[in-house]
Amino acid sequence: MDHSIPLDSARELIRLQASGELSAVQITEASLESIRLSQASIYAFTHVAYDAAFAKAEDIDRRRAAGQPLGALAGVPVAVKDVLCTRDMPTTCSSKMLQNFCPPYDATVVEKLRAADAVIIGKTNMDEFAMGASTENSAFGVTRNPWNKAYTPGGSSGGAAATVAAGHVPLSLGSDTGGSIRQPAAFCGITGLKPTYGRVSRYGLIAFASSLDQVGPMAWSVQDTALLMQTISGFEPRDSTSLNRADDDYIIAAQPTTVRQLRIGVIRDAIEHEGLDDEVRTAVKSAIAVFRNAGATIVDITLPHSNYGVPTYYVIAPCEASSNLSRYDGAHYGYRSTSGDAANSLVSMYSRSRAEGFGPEVKRRIMIGTYALSTGYFDAYYLKALKARRLIRGDYDAAFENVDLLLGPVTPSPAFRIGEKIDDPIQMYLCDLFTVGANLAGIPALSMPGGLSQAGLPIGIQLQAPPLAESTLLRAAAFFQSQTDHHTKRPSR
Ligand code: GLN
Repeated sequence: MDHSIPLDSARELIRLQASGELSAVQITEASLESIRLSQASIYAFTHVAYDAAFAKAEDIDRRRAAGQPLGALAGVPVAVKDVLCTRDMPTTCSSKMLQNFCPPYDATVVEKLRAADAVIIGKTNMDEFAMGASTENSAFGVTRNPWNKAYTPGGSSGGAAATVAAGHVPLSLGSDTGGSIRQPAAFCGITGLKPTYGRVSRYGLIAFASSLDQVGPMAWSVQDTALLMQTISGFEPRDSTSLNRADDDYIIAAQPTTVRQLRIGVIRDAIEHEGLDDEVRTAVKSAIAVFRNAGATIVDITLPHSNYGVPTYYVIAPCEASSNLSRYDGAHYGYRSTSGDAANSLVSMYSRSRAEGFGPEVKRRIMIGTYALSTGYFDAYYLKALKARRLIRGDYDAAFENVDLLLGPVTPSPAFRIGEKIDDPIQMYLCDLFTVGANLAGIPALSMPGGLSQAGLPIGIQLQAPPLAESTLLRAAAFFQSQTDHHTKRPSR
């Protein structure tokens, strides 16, 4: 493998192609070779698009040589979470249910990547239908954390985070319903952004919980994160929840400037939370000090309903999932059972297809959601959860009257070991303590590297901002990365 090709920086790859030092084919070769060398040990991908990637790279080099215009990500390898529809590659959601599914269309964000001349390298492994926090719920295999292969990379976008951390590609796309971009970014020592709900189109994003799902960028640096955000965001008429609002220039926002005018709220209840690991607490405090020393105003704030976030999320998300996943019935598309009397009885075909096609966590969520939505329980669970969601949003609204940003942890602890929580769903759900609030409130949130633990595992710092204030997040994160070197640390190979 050619270590001189900087697969950890999209901006460098763009510069080196412009100066003629590297071709798109050379970059693509290096990316695919690095994947080939570690696919067995890390298993970041459900599908690697060898032929399509080379064809795209050759086309870019040809057009560059002919002096034709090229897109903003020309020749940059990008990995795409396998929850996003791609017409020339399987789209499985890491589920047996969609194992052989190849969609007839591209997700909007994939269309935008193609239009920007990115080289789509493949589809990344995830928890089945994005349900999980460790990528252990994939039907095809467990993804390992490149920092220490005994540990999970987080989830559900574990493959998307691991492929960047492993140095295969500089950019990847994840999706975040309750933390699935930020938590794996934190566990893998990279930067990840969950945009404002509606900022990035969900057209072609396979639905988990539609009122919470957002697609977002993952990369080492804030600048690369902004570059990918610039490519994928924007109004999309085919998504009825897409926001018709002008985008900021995220690339300009990601240039470090002064933070002296910035008022940063430090989330007291998170920092003092008894479930917070001491090393994470220390990292959060050092991040606060970086901003304080630079003249930002630091304000203590509380989010009084934050402890209701996990229970609220784990009612709303399964309710929406139970409805969204009813489309997998063995008849329309996806897995169809032929066992037992599935060939003779329609009802048996439905139930056997779902019994055999879905894994245990997906079944658990469908059952919880169906129960909570049923007559007699709807008011006690779903309606109650909607009310709690409103209170959680209210906490943020109140906080943002006094501050521009909130700072806190992403996760209660650094990455946990593979197998450690998989048999205890409640422990797994509690990992989402600090991330679900942003999804329930629809606000943007970013995870950035904040140092390494004693054991050498990355720790993430979370920034949250009011709706549509992605620029504020990027500006603050860019400043932080100009003052620290956490985002330049790499796992040893
Ligand atoms: N860990 C959360 C869950 O299991 C979040 C998943 C996500 O954001 N897709 O639902």
